[in-house]
Amino acid sequence: MLRYRVSAFSSLPPAQRRYLYYLSQAALTGRDILWDQNCRYNLRIRRLLERIYTDYEGDRTCHDFQQFTVYLKRVWFSNGIHHHYGCEKFLPGFSEEFLRQAIEQTGQPIDEELLRVIFDPTVLPKRVNQAQGDDLLQTSACNYYAPEVTQEMAESFYSRQKTDDPRPPMYGLNSRLEVVGGRLEERVWRSGGMYGETIDRIIHWLRLAEAEAENEAQREVISTLVDFYRTGDLKTFDRYTIQWLQCTEGDIDFVNGFTEVYGDPLGLKASWEGYVNIKDKEATRRTETLSRNAQWFEDNSPIDQRFKKRECHGVTAKVVEAAMLGGDLYPSSAIGINLPNSNWVRQQYGSKSVTIGNLTHAYSEAAKGSGMREEFVIDKPTLDLLNQYDDLCDDLHTDLHECLGHGSGQLLKGVDPDCLKAYGNTIEETRADLFALYYIADPKLVELGLLPDPEAYKSQYYSYMLNGLLTQLVRIDEGKQIEEAHMRNRALIARWCLSRAEGAMRLVTLRGKTYLKIDDYPRLRQLVAELLAEVQRIKSEGDYGAARRLVETYGVSIDPTLHKEVLERYRRLDLAPYKGFINPVIKPVFSADGKLVDATIEYGEPYDHQMLRYGREYSSRDSH
Ligand code: ZN
Repeated sequence: MLRYRVSAFSSLPPAQRRYLYYLSQAALTGRDILWDQNCRYNLRIRRLLERIYTDYEGDRTCHDFQQFTVYLKRVWFSNGIHHHYGCEKFLPGFSEEFLRQAIEQTGQPIDEELLRVIFDPTVLPKRVNQAQGDDLLQTSACNYYAPEVTQEMAESFYSRQKTDDPRPPMYGLNSRLEVVGGRLEERVWRSGGMYGETIDRIIHWLRLAEAEAENEAQREVISTLVDFYRTGDLKTFDRYTIQWLQCTEGDIDFVNGFTEVYGDPLGLKASWEGYVNIKDKEATRRTETLSRNAQWFEDNSPIDQRFKKRECHGVTAKVVEAAMLGGDLYPSSAIGINLPNSNWVRQQYGSKSVTIGNLTHAYSEAAKGSGMREEFVIDKPTLDLLNQYDDLCDDLHTDLHECLGHGSGQLLKGVDPDCLKAYGNTIEETRADLFALYYIADPKLVELGLLPDPEAYKSQYYSYMLNGLLTQLVRIDEGKQIEEAHMRNRALIARWCLSRAEGAMRLVTLRGKTYLKIDDYPRLRQLVAELLAEVQRIKSEGDYGAARRLVETYGVSIDPTLHKEVLERYRRLDLAPYKGFINPVIKPVFSADGKLVDATIEYGEPYDHQMLRYGREYSSRDSH
């Protein structure tokens, strides 16, 4: 579990902190909706377990109780009894006898049904089953459809709703499909509907936030969202989405509602999530500086003149700090978010894209303490170099990649943008990464004040090549090849450079382990420039054969001996495979007459305290 810091909080005036406080309360309030969406037994199981965790008076040091604690922490982490990512039900490491006596000892009734759900591996084994040929609803434990609803029933129900409306609402998004009196019917999450009491409390916090909003546009967004929660009407939801999308003024922004559909095997129904963010002005200034100079970067790129854009505009990516994570974004969270999901809204109005800088930062801080670097980096001077510059260079690499890399260059007339087919994604990511690698070593970045000195880039070169050649292999199972486009692109760049480096960069064996050694960084930059020119040519001319050769030669297969070695070194570090975040506590400050005047932020709350407190303060009183 990691903590993230909200450094912008202290410089906000009290009015913005009040706004943030109300929005953060709204972001935490829908938590139980998500738990219930993930599986219909989750809330009952959580309450049962939490009672034991707080009240159990038996031996808390015994193996069973230790295993009980592990299980509860996993349930908290996954918002239910299924793995948050892999979706499989995890089984307890304690005995059923232990749980039975702990339930009785804490004065709770034995519920045989819950015991079966917890212990029997054949009961609800997967939250979301995607296996072809199965009835996906009958074999998935998620709670978006009543147990008696089959895939065929749901599919025909929703196919009947399809019309030729050019602006179709996202049918089914905020409802559970049930059989009522022999007929299929949607029960909607809204005021007066399913979880109506919880939704009313979200509305309560949103109303208070509305009064503290930074500007008229934000007030309008919140007011339409409240309308949507009141009515559950999906046309209103689209209206809210468009207003939210167009609302870019102000420092504070949020997401609150039924958003992503990964939890529904049919991809229709959205899990509830909430989060609040503050614009990171410093980081956003960085991306603005790059965008302002987009034409200089284009003109000086080491590619053929015919492939350059005459007029080049950078994209300003907004960098934000998360201030509160809730629902499906807590405790495991995305680090970049691009919304909305409605196709026609995206086509006509575009989308809002943010990078959550303080979460990325927390991840990289954690990586430092993991021992990964000490294990894989060749020597002390290189380690010092990485520790000094790598955070800064990583951020800058991402900015160059996103703000300039993807937008640079042009296709020759008549070239079909899709003609690289299955290799298109990898080639495009390769191009953007090479652009970033080439320019991170350019004195221009020091001149623009984005890097402190001309040596800093070496840290990015080392860590990038190390990742492409060795460390990213830890994410691939033994015997498998590289599949994912970003991973292919990193392997491609690093191995292509290695194959031509002639001593400038090589893999060496020390004490029986493989290390990366880089002796000539300027030569490496020349290779990056050469490859960028070639990859841009492939893209601009649509040279499918060359794309295929490059990707297949350098980006796919793995040397099995090296792979085995890397996996073995990684296993010995014994690292947690997934990470999540503990929220800060944003506390209200009231005046003597009970008016909210300000808010404060604190970070020290332990994981279990936070979970138990959320269980008390945001517990839904709706029946289920
Ligand atoms: Zn990219």
